[in-house]
Amino acid sequence: MTHTPLSDLSHDDLLALRERLQASYDELKGRGLSLDLTRGKPSSAQLDLADELLRLPRGCTDRSGTDVRNYGGLAGLPELREMFAELLWVEPEQVVAGGNSSLTMMRDTLVYLLLFGGVDSDRPWGKESVVKFICPVPGYDRHFALLESLGIEMITVPMNDDGPDAEAVARLVKEDRSIKGMWVVPTYANPAGSVCTQEVAARLASMETAAHDFKIFWDNAYALHHLTEDEAKSADILTLAAASGHPHRPIMFASTSKITFAGAGVAFLAASVENVNWYLQHLGKGSIGPDKVNHLRHVQFFASAQGVRDHMVRHREIIAPKFAAVDRVLTERLDGHGVARWNKPRGGYFVNLDVMPGTASRVVSLAKEAGIALTPAGSSFPLGQDPNDENIRLAPTMPPLEEVTEAMDGVATAVLLAAVEKLLSGG
Ligand code: PLP
Repeated sequence: MTHTPLSDLSHDDLLALRERLQASYDELKGRGLSLDLTRGKPSSAQLDLADELLRLPRGCTDRSGTDVRNYGGLAGLPELREMFAELLWVEPEQVVAGGNSSLTMMRDTLVYLLLFGGVDSDRPWGKESVVKFICPVPGYDRHFALLESLGIEMITVPMNDDGPDAEAVARLVKEDRSIKGMWVVPTYANPAGSVCTQEVAARLASMETAAHDFKIFWDNAYALHHLTEDEAKSADILTLAAASGHPHRPIMFASTSKITFAGAGVAFLAASVENVNWYLQHLGKGSIGPDKVNHLRHVQFFASAQGVRDHMVRHREIIAPKFAAVDRVLTERLDGHGVARWNKPRGGYFVNLDVMPGTASRVVSLAKEAGIALTPAGSSFPLGQDPNDENIRLAPTMPPLEEVTEAMDGVATAVLLAAVEKLLSGG
């Protein structure tokens, strides 16, 4: 059913609507709910899919006969690097298999760049008076928190349906040599859900940058996390960059956090062989080798790259109905009212909800009072500041399906109530 735009309603109609919404909201509060849509985490049912890992590995040697229980093998188990090289469309020698968190690899890479400079730097980034990064928004809150913690300034550009606004990025990086890098979540971005096209990737790979050691942090956290059978293929950033004469520009990250266990998976870094050697040289000062027992466990569990793809289909079967429920409830309750827009992601972990400008914080606090936890408004922007106070990130994977449906119904009530209040206050 399509509803009337709220902006077409008379003052009296709005007053009457507010009364009805307030009554539903009070009823909602009275239910004593405790629902949580904040966490982009796999549900227990998804984690259960990988429980076989708890009984692995069988034996303790890799295919070359190395005892995985011992020190060494800083770049990770060769067979696991091969498996994920195939999945990430790169060469095995371009891949490092590390610990359980790709975010840690991103942090380490940034710290090495600041302290030592990269393979193509004249001096450490930290010697510059100011270091800036381009941040497509809305984006991943932890990327922004990481930059903030290191004193790196953030410049926002829009995240479009085909990836970051490449023309805006190209204009900025051409002029300003203090802009040393950018984030890209290329596949099913957090939270916009967009997929960076080959064209946008090619533009970012080839653009002229004032800083000749500019880096693209290509965080492919959701490379394999399809919600439909129409599986997006990530753009081939390493090849594109190499072909346009900037082989050391992209550094790719990925992990099995949302494939096997979020707390005990394997993270990957992929880049030019020179970048890989640079990373390992610095990593080697603080580690004698990764958890190869976990690497072997993952190799045995999946058996092949196809094994990983097959496993992701089982995840899809669990979470796709939750995303469908979010869309169904939002459509039933909000479509046509002109107070909210949301995406229908084809993969990843989030739904991006834009509510009436100036009401996102109010929606989040109304939901909270009714026992529905949402990610704080603004969290998908640097410093938590959404200039329009309109963006809310919904994470439906963790709660059971019935809870997702119930929570979204409450969110819809909060969105409408906040919008009516705003219109009545002349906003
Ligand atoms: N990158 C993005 C875009 C994410 O959304 C997340 C988790 O939500 C991560 C990285 C975290 O990855 P990891 O668990 O490998 O540290």
